[in-house]
Parts: sequence; C-alpha cells; structure tokens
Amino acid sequence: MSFSLSELQQKFPNMYPSSFVTHNDAAFWLDHKGDRNQLVVLAREGNPLRDQFQGERSPFQPGYAVVVCATNHANARALRNALAWLTPKPIGLATSAGTGDRLGLATPGHVRAFNAVGGNIVPIFAQQSIREMQRTGRSADDVMTDATFGTFEAGWRKLVGADADHLKVPEDIDTCVAAGFSFYTIDPGAHVDSEADTASPTVIHQKVAVLPWKDLASTAADFEKRYAGQKVQLETCTVQIDSEAALRAAVKYGKAIAHVAMMYRHLVAKNIPFELEVSVDETETPTTHAEHIIVVSELKRLNVQWVSLAPRYIGRFEKGVDYIGDPSTSSGQALAAFEKDFAVHAEIARKYGPYKLSIHSGSDKFSVYPITMEQTRGLVHLKTAGTSYLEALRTIAAFDPAFFRKLYVFGREHYESDRVSYHVSAQLERAPKPEDVKDVDLPSLLNQFDAREIFHVTFGSVLTTKKSDGKFLFYDDFMAILRAHPDAYAANLEAHFIKHLKPFAT
Ligand SMILES: [Zn+2]
Repeated sequence: MSFSLSELQQKFPNMYPSSFVTHNDAAFWLDHKGDRNQLVVLAREGNPLRDQFQGERSPFQPGYAVVVCATNHANARALRNALAWLTPKPIGLATSAGTGDRLGLATPGHVRAFNAVGGNIVPIFAQQSIREMQRTGRSADDVMTDATFGTFEAGWRKLVGADADHLKVPEDIDTCVAAGFSFYTIDPGAHVDSEADTASPTVIHQKVAVLPWKDLASTAADFEKRYAGQKVQLETCTVQIDSEAALRAAVKYGKAIAHVAMMYRHLVAKNIPFELEVSVDETETPTTHAEHIIVVSELKRLNVQWVSLAPRYIGRFEKGVDYIGDPSTSSGQALAAFEKDFAVHAEIARKYGPYKLSIHSGSDKFSVYPITMEQTRGLVHLKTAGTSYLEALRTIAAFDPAFFRKLYVFGREHYESDRVSYHVSAQLERAPKPEDVKDVDLPSLLNQFDAREIFHVTFGSVLTTKKSDGKFLFYDDFMAILRAHPDAYAANLEAHFIKHLKPFAT
C-alpha cells in the first residue's frame, strides 16, 4: 500500500485517524458522514478482499479503487475477517474487564480508557445479556456490530473477547454463537432453589430424592458420601461441610448444576472457540464457601470447563453505586468483612481451578476493586454495564438540560415498576424533586445515590417507550444528542473508566 495517512486525510477529511490501518495490501478506515459512520476500504483493482465488502465502488488512482460501506452487520463481519484482531477470542485467565454498552456508542470511550491505563488487562467490549437486549430492542448482531466498529474506530489492535451474558436457555446460545461471541456466561439462576436455605430437614430430604440424579450422573447416596462431613483444607483455612449443609447445597444448586452441564454440552457441540463463565450472582442469599466448593466440584465431576465463576458475594452489589456492606458496621469494618469472605472464595478458585472470580454488577464498586485484585492475584474479571449509560446521561445533561430533566421526571414515574428485577434500594422520596434542582445542578443528580439508581434501572423504559404515533418518546433525540457530541461522550467515559480499570491494570 503506497498511500500515507496524511495523503489520504487530505482526500478524506472526515476520517477518524485512529481507525486508519493498512493490512494485506489494503487500507481501512472509518469516516463520518453527517452523524453516521461509514467504512472505507482502499485496495488494488483485483484484490479479492475488496469483494467481501458491500458498498459503493469508485476508482481512486490508477489501479486502485475505494469501497464506501455502510456500518452494517455484513460489513462488520467482513471487517472482522479482514482484520483478525477485531474477532473476539477466548482470553483465558488474563485479568479482564467487560464494558457493556446498551446504546452501541460507548466502545470508543472504553478503548480510550483501556489505552490510558495500559497494563495487560484484556477488554470485553461486546457484552450484553439477553434481558438487556430485549429491554433495549437490540439483537446480538447489533451488539457485536456496534462493538466491532467502535473498536475499529478507536484503533484497539490487541486481544478482545465478547461476552454473551446471563444466558438462560439453549436458544440464547444459538443466537450468540451465530453473532460471533466468544465468552458465554451461563446463568442457571432460574434453577436455584432458594427454599433450601430455610426448609425443614424433612422437606430437604424429600427434595434431595427428586433431584435430576440421572442428569447429574450420580445418586443421592453418592452425593452425601462425597461431601457430608468433609473437611476441605485451603491455603489459610479449612471449610467444614456437615451433612445438613451438603444436602441443603444439593437442593439449592442440584438442578442448576445439571442445567449448566447441559448448556455447556450444547456449546461444545457448536465446535467454536469459546470460554465459559458460570454465574450464580443473582440468587437471594450469598454463596457460602461450602456451596462454592460443592458447585465447582460437581461441575468438574461432570467434565464442565470454565474460566470464571461469579458467586454471589456478601454485602450488596447494587447497580451503579459503590459496595454496601452490613449497615450496622462502619464502612471499614464492612470492607474488612468482605475481604475476609472474598479471600476464601479466591482460595477455593485456586484450589479447584485455577479460574477467575467474576465481579458482576461491578460498575462503580471502587472500594472493593483493590481487594478483588489482591486476593485473586489478578485472576479476576470485572463486569460493568449500566455505568456507561449513566455517562451518556451526564453528557446529555451538559448539552441539553431540558431534555435531561424530562428523563429524570420520566424515570421517577417508572422507577417503582422498573426496579423489580434489579437489586436496588433507592427511595423516590430521598431523591431530589425535579422542581428543586436548577439547570446547572442537573448533572449532580448522577452523583446522588437515589437519583443515580433511578436513572440506572429505568434505561429500558427511557430507550423503548413509544408515543401514540408509534415514534419513540426519547430514543431518537437521546441518540442524536450523543451522536452530535461523540468526543464529549468518549471523554466522560474515558475519565470514568480509568477509575474502574486502574486497580486492575498491572
Ligand atoms: Zn450478573
């Protein structure tokens, strides 16, 4: 390729210079036209690569032609094929962080933060749960395509993964395999029996008898033999599993373990490179150390392989706010209690793996990041999602206070119904009343605990509610403001994610 960047920039002044790359005798870059992006591929006439992209062809200089392409799914796929580093791959035990993006515009800001902190932390830019896809009206392909072009735009050329998050049924796997995801988070939460914590011994025995022992390739008697009365020696402590705890764990997680094994085999049959995360973070009670040991021992016995596990830790991991420990203790004591409990989970993960511990609802948990990094010795995966939406709101507050105010009023109206499926404790009466907040103070609502959670859980309603004429109530204007100020949004994300990533970047 005999063209230089500066030469091409003169002819294509709307190019994102960070995206420009030459590879296999062709040049690729992203251009913005109005508020939309387009992919440009420059190659010699006859270069077969060019035919893989759909777009408008025009001659460039003698012997060369450009193809100007829409940023659609087919061209995203072609770009991932042409520039292999854009294809998500398994990342193994490397320290990693997922930056879910519900709007499809956040990846360039995320890339800037990863570049700014340096180190060896591996990013997962494409990450969305099926629930969030449904709430935002996006498909698995949309998530992948937006992340691909965002990664390309900002010039990230190192390893990336893509997390198909909180998958619940085999069809979720089918959808995400077709879209090209590499990291599969299996959530067997629907098969966890929370009654196990409180049921009487008689009920526990009845429930143990009817567990899917065939799927578990075992029997109740064998299970009891394996765990009841066991003393598991870890590095600094011993975990004792008495007979009752073992049976309660069987009831609580037995069906969930069978479900994970079934999902894993479904994935193996796809014959793609992938890695697995097992998440039980959305259960009603924290995962005990004995439960952690039993779950992973059973998964190993069933030949399931995974790279990370998300137990539910003690304390509260509410959305978009810092860690909340036992309110009857000081915050220092609460963090010490978290560390003591977490340290044992980390010892279990080393003994039975090693595998990474995954921190779900990881947005804004600044006080626990150093603990998780130190106790896992870097075998940790951080998962964030909603906090990027909140940075979008911060951007909107700066450019269109009146619109932001409408979103706040709307969010307050929808909070009580939208909060149901989330772990949040915000109370409407504690959040400032819209009429009491001056325009200049609107962005500070994003720093007030209750208002922040209200914004956080109402994203689905904000993004998908339509008016009686079928048009979106907010979505189009919301996206237009962000598209008009991409640099401001990226700068807000960069600043916010540097705070998230720094403790993990070594
Ligand atoms: Zn989760």
